[in-house]
Amino acid sequence: MPDHTEQSAALFDRASAVTPGGVNSPVRAFRAVGGVPRFMASGDRCHITDVDGNRYLDLVCSWGPMLLGHAHPEVTAAVQAAVSRGTSYGTPTETEVLLGEEIVDRTPVDKVRLVSSGTEATMSALRLARGFTGRAKIIKFAGCYHGHVDALLAQAGSGVITLGIPGTPGVTEATTADTIVLPYNDQPAVTAAFAEYGDQIAAVITEASPGNMGVVPPRDNFNAFLAKVCKDNGALFISDEVMTGFRITRSGWYGVDGVQPDLMTFGKVMGGGFPAAAFGGRADVMAHLAPEGSVYQAGTLSGNPVATAAGLTTLRLATDEVYARLDETSATIQRLVATALDKEGVPHVIQAAGNLFSVFFVESSEGPAEIRDFAGANAQVLPRFAAFFHAMLDAGVYLPPSAFEAWFVSSAIDDDALAELESALAPAARAAAAV
Ligand code: PMP
Repeated sequence: MPDHTEQSAALFDRASAVTPGGVNSPVRAFRAVGGVPRFMASGDRCHITDVDGNRYLDLVCSWGPMLLGHAHPEVTAAVQAAVSRGTSYGTPTETEVLLGEEIVDRTPVDKVRLVSSGTEATMSALRLARGFTGRAKIIKFAGCYHGHVDALLAQAGSGVITLGIPGTPGVTEATTADTIVLPYNDQPAVTAAFAEYGDQIAAVITEASPGNMGVVPPRDNFNAFLAKVCKDNGALFISDEVMTGFRITRSGWYGVDGVQPDLMTFGKVMGGGFPAAAFGGRADVMAHLAPEGSVYQAGTLSGNPVATAAGLTTLRLATDEVYARLDETSATIQRLVATALDKEGVPHVIQAAGNLFSVFFVESSEGPAEIRDFAGANAQVLPRFAAFFHAMLDAGVYLPPSAFEAWFVSSAIDDDALAELESALAPAARAAAAV
């Protein structure tokens, strides 16, 4: 049971002196929930331990990558072997070929290019889509996150078709002028945008099943609709599977709805805890990429031998049995959460996309019954999430420190861990009920 945070607090002070906000990625700072971010020192299977010696059941899994849990012996061995051979050459290597073949085997892409982060993958996919079509505009959906690509950091305003307004200082209006932001799951809005700008739209980019506004799955065959409208208008359909890829099924959300994108982006699980990501797709589109084609894209550490060894080993271990286990674990956790919250009368909606799920604390049990878009996700009772989060943390369960994030399970979660979770949920549900 975590009861002291002195070392984390001291490190946070030192970190804040040398790094803005004390963190190297904003959500880690606990701004949404308050309190001292925990500085982790180690991970072992489904647990992580902080610098004060507090041990937590980990339901963040590094925001997705740690599908098999922490310090998996075979992944660790593969990484150690790779490191002992040297860490980077800036030349092609066999491991990146094997990883590329594994990705092509698991997904509908014909060809793939490795990069180092999901942000790079979506940025490059957009450039390629624009280069291939010779068009400038892109459509994205409010509440979908595709990394911190300038053109994608645009928020929706009111109205059916909102021309992009930069969502952050530092992104110029010119950069987002070609970004059209639409409400998620809104087919008429997409139809209207294509009616107005059809011959200027290079691509529609969407999370295959969004997880960055909480989990808000596509409804009414939304992805199939997007693929068709793109095809009819000569635009490319880009499915961002950075979060869902190799996590929800052996391919990703594609394994659930089977909608064929023109381009896809991957990250997280395929790096096995190292910086590795990818974009890929139709052979004729990928042929436009340098050095085969003229759309430039490159990276000093792309296809890094250590990262690709970790990713390849992770994917090879992620068998159908592993995905079945993840589904079962996720269903059990969802059931335990629902039971605990129901017992205390806390209104909530749990939404899942395969084993990925999140819990929305809604205003009342009268509704809404489902969250369909960013506006719905924004109607959450945020203080209730914060109280729940801290009670879980105090009871030794590490949840995403924001109400707008998915919960991630690993195949290392066993019955003992589920028992830990169940006993943490009772006080956490009471804490949520008290808000
Ligand atoms: N796309 C999606 C769907 C993501 O969830 C993320 C990261 N959470 C990214 C892109 C960006 O990936 P990265 O953080 O590796 O740049």
